[in-house]
Amino acid sequence: MFDLTLAGAAKALKAKEISAVELTSAYNEAVAALNPRLNAYITTTPELALEQAKAADARLADGSATPLTGIPIAMKDLFCTEGVRTTAGSAILEPFVPPYESTVSGKLKAAGAVMLGKANLDEFAMGSSNITSFYGAVENPWKRQGSEAKLVPGGSSGGSAAAVAARIAIAATGTDTGGSIRQPAAFTGLAGIKPTYGRCSRFGVVAFASSLDQPGPMARNVEDNALLLNAMAGFDAKDSTSADRAVPDFTASLTRGVKGLKIGIPKEYRLEGTNPEILALWDKGIEWLQAQGAEIVEISLPHTKYGLAVYYIVAPAEASSNLARYDGVRYGKRVDGADLIDLYERSRAEGFGAEVKRRIMIGTYVLSHGYYDAYYLKAQKVRNLILKDFTDAFGQVDAILTPTAPSAAFGLGEKMDDPVTMYLNDVFTVPASLAGVPAMSVPAGLSADGLPLGLQVIGKHFDEETVFAVSAAIENAAGFSALPEVRAK
Ligand code: GLN
Repeated sequence: MFDLTLAGAAKALKAKEISAVELTSAYNEAVAALNPRLNAYITTTPELALEQAKAADARLADGSATPLTGIPIAMKDLFCTEGVRTTAGSAILEPFVPPYESTVSGKLKAAGAVMLGKANLDEFAMGSSNITSFYGAVENPWKRQGSEAKLVPGGSSGGSAAAVAARIAIAATGTDTGGSIRQPAAFTGLAGIKPTYGRCSRFGVVAFASSLDQPGPMARNVEDNALLLNAMAGFDAKDSTSADRAVPDFTASLTRGVKGLKIGIPKEYRLEGTNPEILALWDKGIEWLQAQGAEIVEISLPHTKYGLAVYYIVAPAEASSNLARYDGVRYGKRVDGADLIDLYERSRAEGFGAEVKRRIMIGTYVLSHGYYDAYYLKAQKVRNLILKDFTDAFGQVDAILTPTAPSAAFGLGEKMDDPVTMYLNDVFTVPASLAGVPAMSVPAGLSADGLPLGLQVIGKHFDEETVFAVSAAIENAAGFSALPEVRAK
């Protein structure tokens, strides 16, 4: 039962081979058995899940079911869920129980999806390894061959990734600001898509960097992502940057193939010192697409080298302003002080973790008088050049292929001495975030020590369909079927 994909489970539910209550009960049990070890969920909601499963069975009986009805999923704990504790991985929100539902989680609910719990994440989604969560690190269910060392699942959607990889959720939601869906998907052998900025509503998603944040799905394969995105996407008047665009049926593009498509290979992504395994996988991806009739075109994205620097100015700047609202007065944790200022300071000092404080300080600095022009404004200008790189490239090609991350999953505790080493993880994912274009990670192979590696497909604004078509072609050719050792069986 745990090997069913979302599409497979939907079929089995429809054919009445299994009921939603049976499926959810099995998943509830698997969560109870494996979560104490993996820490993929911050909050589990087994009773709510069963209630939703009962309602799903009723819909499956009366014919009003959708492909998501009765599917047990994990919800990243950055989405506000009505009546269910929402932490954003931070101590400062405790004990926040939202009185409203985020648009995306609400859409999934309306489609009949069953929520197993709220998935762990880096605090306020800041990180690449899920080790900044106040609720503790998440363990990657994958192990290096012959080693029991604990590895990170990637981040910030690390709990979502670990849950789906370990089969304690069929699929999950994530959010991606600079790679937080794609990198953890790559580290855990999953497929995950960051849609075009504006495709999925940000309403009710705890804000990190508003001009970059984008919700999206994470699942076992490309098809499951298409099914989820069908339900998650769409215009929302409650989000001023939500795009008023029709949502196509993304599953229709899965069988389109890549014949005649032009696929760009950006030469600037061949960074010196990149792991040869990653480069070899990239070459394989190129061969697979070529063999299926795509034309490979070398392209240039000349401002790629500024991507990380720009991202780590813009994202902290927006974060410092978004996080100003956590003052100990209106939400969550309050630590009393001698006066109001003292209360603010104590609440924030105790409520935020080290990485969040670092970002607030960087952000406040680059926005402050005298430095604004030199850093923030300059970064915004270069961000525009990065966007222009993509616009120019998409004049020539239909999609772009790159690796997702510069390495496979690393050990818990590695890369922690210096934040910049951690930031380097995002080198291949941040440019698409800065440009707002859709990008998907597809599991494409294993490293020499048996860990999953992903390839990234980047598309034009609002052309997720081509991203899905190319990703499906890579998925078919790669035939990725390896499974992590730690999983529900
Ligand atoms: N790793 C990046 C960061 O730490 C991206 C995080 C994200 O996409 N939420 O900011």
